[in-house]
Amino acid sequence: MSDTNGGGSLKETLWDPIAGFGVTFRTMFRKPVTEQYPFEKRPTAPRFHGRHQLNRWPDGLEKCVGCELCAWACPADAIYVEGASNGPSDEDRFSPGERYGRVYQINYLRCILCGLCIEACPTRALTMTNEYELADDNRADLIYEKSDLLAPLLPGMVEPPHAMLISDDHHDYYAGKTLPVVEVTHGSASTGDGA
Ligand code: SF4
Ligand code: SF4
Repeated sequence: MSDTNGGGSLKETLWDPIAGFGVTFRTMFRKPVTEQYPFEKRPTAPRFHGRHQLNRWPDGLEKCVGCELCAWACPADAIYVEGASNGPSDEDRFSPGERYGRVYQINYLRCILCGLCIEACPTRALTMTNEYELADDNRADLIYEKSDLLAPLLPGMVEPPHAMLISDDHHDYYAGKTLPVVEVTHGSASTGDGA
């Protein structure tokens, strides 16, 4: 408290500056916590919400069935989906079952990475990765197309369109049936059930 002449109390005059500089000196000898981004990148938390991914079944077919539930769930209106029927021939299919996502776009100018879309997805086709590098120098490149979002083909996967390789019944895909084991005997291949 100041005295009536405008001067400070003994505590304000002597002790407070020492206490203030004490904080400064203490901090000077602590290890810096500054992150040298973008030269050094630290891994995110495992459940960090980053760029989306459209997943595949183990045979390479797409999990998205074009139902648009993700687009309806999105509070920012950032997703655009157009579903279509798989082709008449079994070789023309992109997903097990009837339909697939023909057009799939996410507008990262709008997306707030809230994750409501992945909660709405009935097939776990849509999940989020830990990738956070989503800045760009133009608006058009921040609208990600299906080709930007589809998961890469892993060993054993075949680029669609193609027939269902796991089972003729699409329910088996959702039941977790795995790819048939390919047995190679004397130069010929035969399949057995690997479920
Ligand atoms: S994370 Fe949220 S804002 Fe982004 S597309 Fe999904 S629902 Fe929309
Ligand atoms: S990502 Fe999921 S919710 Fe969205 S259209 Fe495809 S299957 Fe439906």
